[in-house]
Amino acid sequence: MTMITCSECGRSISDRAPACVGCGAPVGSLPGLNLAPPLSPGLPPTRRQIRWRLIAASLMLVGGVIAARQAMHLPRFGHLASSAATALILVGLVWLLITLVQRLSPRD
Ligand SMILES: [Zn+2]
Repeated sequence: MTMITCSECGRSISDRAPACVGCGAPVGSLPGLNLAPPLSPGLPPTRRQIRWRLIAASLMLVGGVIAARQAMHLPRFGHLASSAATALILVGLVWLLITLVQRLSPRD
């Protein structure tokens, strides 16, 4: 432990103290400036995130297939519903493939 001089009031205080006991001025660098930089959004997803994305993409795919089957029985909006179901299947499939590639790609 080292005794330092407060920059505000000149009192001798510990360098481990978060703030000066005399005037309350913060010791050393201001809190928040010393923290590690926040994680950038470009970082690869964690295993947990990938697992949830795989589940979500699979559910989307299955939901699309079920919706497509149901759409065949709809008398009026069958075309619209089957188009929506097809979009759901395609998005789910692409998402699943992207997530699988992310999981298989090496990380360093
Ligand atoms: Zn002080």
